[in-house]
Amino acid sequence: MIPLRIKVEANADQPFVVRLRSFETAVCEQRTEQLNPFDAALERVGPEGADYVGEGGPIRILGIDPSKVDGDVLLVNPRRGTADRLIRSSSQHNTFLVTERCDQICLMCSQPPKKHHVDLFPHFQTAALLAPEGATIGVSGGEPTLSKAQLFRFLQSVLEARPDLSFHVLTNGQHFEEADRDAMGHIERGRVVWGIPLYSRDAGVHDEIVGKAGAHARLLENLALMCRLGAQVELRTVLMRPNADGLFGLARFIASTLPFIRTWAVMQMENIGYGRMNWNTLFYDSSEGFDVVGRSIDLVRSRGIDAWLYNFPLCTVPEGYRHLAPATISDWKRAYREECDGCSLKARCGGFFEWHPANHGYSNLGAIQ
Ligand code: SF4
Repeated sequence: MIPLRIKVEANADQPFVVRLRSFETAVCEQRTEQLNPFDAALERVGPEGADYVGEGGPIRILGIDPSKVDGDVLLVNPRRGTADRLIRSSSQHNTFLVTERCDQICLMCSQPPKKHHVDLFPHFQTAALLAPEGATIGVSGGEPTLSKAQLFRFLQSVLEARPDLSFHVLTNGQHFEEADRDAMGHIERGRVVWGIPLYSRDAGVHDEIVGKAGAHARLLENLALMCRLGAQVELRTVLMRPNADGLFGLARFIASTLPFIRTWAVMQMENIGYGRMNWNTLFYDSSEGFDVVGRSIDLVRSRGIDAWLYNFPLCTVPEGYRHLAPATISDWKRAYREECDGCSLKARCGGFFEWHPANHGYSNLGAIQ
């Protein structure tokens, strides 16, 4: 697995953001590219680690080849001797985890909520401004809109300063209000996609899944608000046993009532956090019961709404739907299994989450020749 946290040594008291430049100082001087005050350039590599220097002082990176972190933006925690790779310059899958607090307790949550919260938005803002040209940055939690004033300010200021960047924000959609119209109006709507989960047309099923009474009603109100604000919405539905039978009803509801959404994503489960705890009661074998998925996708697409399959191994999807199943599992947590050896689809298949169990649960899975 690609490490998202690395060991560092730095002489500082407080956390700070730095971008690594893994070309040596002499080469750096010949390059036309100017070093940013947040850049640190590689000075030397030795058995004890790779030493970088910049305006913020020296920093040593341990246990990773400097060429693998060139251009990476780190949030360094000097006291702990660790750094989080907030932006990996070679990756399309960079996400800022802005909080671990959440007001829902979803049955399959991969990142179970915690009460503790530290506001790192100033660091995220610095990091975003150092992102590679044209990047799309994910924002996730917990529930990011629990700090919506900070979130809105962060999005607005980064988008104003970097016209090439865009964001994908995962939110449970519970906390938008008419009073946010002004703040959201300052965020360029075409450059932010809001990924919002809706699990069922049936309020009881949805509320049961998210562990919050009234969540469905509130969500529908806020989806209407998002429509009035012209926000780009990616509706997300994790497919599970409790909502699989109702998937077609949900598709009908989306097609008739939510035609303004940009995308509908039907998603397979991730076996971690509460998802692992509840796996045996929740996991739906879509390789066996794809019919309802196919009919639902067909209906929504027939109404001109994009519908996709996220996190589905390609061999579990009938051939006619494989083009709708992009490789969505982030590179750092993607893995393949023995069954994948020699598979002709491997290059475009997203495979599995690294932590997917050996007993994978799919009745129909195996290399496609
Ligand atoms: S065998 Fe592996 S690589 Fe091939 S389609 Fe299935 S999951 Fe993907």
